[in-house]
Amino acid sequence: MANFIEDIIEKDLAEGKYDKIVTRFPPEPNGCLHIGHAKAICLDYYGTAVKYGGKCNLRFDDTNPVKEDEEFVESIIDTVKWLGWKGDIYYASDYFDEMYECAVKLIKKGKAYVDDITPEQMKELRGTLTEPGRETANRNRSVEENLKLFKDMKEGRVPDGALVLRAKIDMASPNINMRDPIIYRVVRARHHRQGDKWCIYPMYDFAHPLEDAVEGITHSLCTLEFEDHRPLYDWVLKECGFENPPHQYEFARLNIERTIMSKRYLKKLVDEGVVDGWDDPRMPTLAGLRRRGYTPASIRTFCERIGIAKANSTVEAGQLESCIREELNRTAPRVMAVLDPVELEITNVGEDYSQVCELEINPSDESAGTRRIDFGKHLYIEQSDFALDPPPKYHRLTLGGVVRLKGAYIIRCTNVDAEDGKVKKVYAEIIEGTKSGGASPVKAKGVIHWVNAKDCVDIEARLYDYLLNAGDEDKDFSERMNAESLVVKHAKAEKCLAAAKPLDSFQFMRQGYFCRDLKSKGLVFNRTVELKDSFRK
Ligand code: ATP
Ligand code: MG
Repeated sequence: MANFIEDIIEKDLAEGKYDKIVTRFPPEPNGCLHIGHAKAICLDYYGTAVKYGGKCNLRFDDTNPVKEDEEFVESIIDTVKWLGWKGDIYYASDYFDEMYECAVKLIKKGKAYVDDITPEQMKELRGTLTEPGRETANRNRSVEENLKLFKDMKEGRVPDGALVLRAKIDMASPNINMRDPIIYRVVRARHHRQGDKWCIYPMYDFAHPLEDAVEGITHSLCTLEFEDHRPLYDWVLKECGFENPPHQYEFARLNIERTIMSKRYLKKLVDEGVVDGWDDPRMPTLAGLRRRGYTPASIRTFCERIGIAKANSTVEAGQLESCIREELNRTAPRVMAVLDPVELEITNVGEDYSQVCELEINPSDESAGTRRIDFGKHLYIEQSDFALDPPPKYHRLTLGGVVRLKGAYIIRCTNVDAEDGKVKKVYAEIIEGTKSGGASPVKAKGVIHWVNAKDCVDIEARLYDYLLNAGDEDKDFSERMNAESLVVKHAKAEKCLAAAKPLDSFQFMRQGYFCRDLKSKGLVFNRTVELKDSFRK
């Protein structure tokens, strides 16, 4: 079923309104992109430009020099390309001259005036939803005087904040955005591309429609909070004389349970050192998700599944996870890794005993083939796979019990070294004739994973959980931080992991999907996602 944006575009195309659909993704470079931005990119690029044979510009909305940074420009280009976007890159700041000319045009038409209003007065005179705003005496300044003062603002003869340029619309409008909004202000701040060329900067509501118009955007897609700004968007384009102006359409923001979706707060986590940078694998940033092991395809699948609607809602975190889990189930090679190792000694074989076991690389992809691993006298198994005092229905190893070692033999536990209830070492014997692949004389209810002590590698496995605790939705993020969002395990793993390249993904059997970390030098693996949906566990 088509979403409402597709309905609009298809109607416009059928009516021959445009030769080509042109959209844009307009990030402000004040932080790295997050999964919410992926929704917007997927809509602007795949959902419209690609689908209808048009194009989608990446445009930096870099009109506020105070909050923006070159560092974020690089990172944004990198992640947008990573998601698969192709197109041209633009910078709103390159249009400052055109914007200035448009402002002059408005003044000449009597549609803008210079005011000396302070932010406090602005707030007071703006009125409320039920009361109209009030005009200032400056509203009736002559065109000549406005032109002169605006020039003074531009040429640095006015202190920061002393004068502003306001659109002259309607102080009694029921829409507060239309009550003579500020369109230019004086700020002496160095711009990352323009340097000190400007000391006046345009406001978003004035700049954005002009940016769209200059680029020939046809459909300007943004989130719902801009709905009330649309009349101003249309007003600016009309008064500045654009024919065939772009149109703005609003869709619902993406919100995900237990996920922070605001660059401002994400920046705080980075600045306060709560996380290890913007690409910390716990961050919902695209850089973080990539480092966590998410693929562009899984993120696109997620954006397709959640769809585009006009009402805000919150998506379950499990929905994003199931997209990567399904993909990795098809693609990730299986390996065994023991996260909490305990020694296991096979007592009925000699020190030099060695047997080759053949295991499937991926049971859901036969073409992946098999791998061979050595089985020997000294192994490691998971602490949680042995119980001194097993609960009912425990099918793993117990004293005197049997279990199958994955791809190898069925063993019977004969002895255990334990101290204060903590298991130090387990002893077991192989039951003859039980090698995997043959008809076995005995059956084991459980299968556990293992590694060979002789050739396994030491790895660091990082287990991630949500940054925010569940519940307490109304509390401030700072009161919801999950103290256990990162747990580090010193694990033992199959030796093939030593050759893993950064971001190579694996299924650690019975544990989850992991990928090799992008940044760490050693053998560090990040858990992308657990094998099962943690919400329903
Ligand atoms: P933040 O509050 O995180 O800084 P923003 O909306 O200020 O977000 P921009 O850089 O201005 O971030 O956003 C670029 C584009 O991405 C805009 O069109 C915006 O509507 C869209 N966008 C931002 N957040 C979301 C989200 N959670 N869901 C969908 N689209 C989003
Ligand atoms: Mg913003």
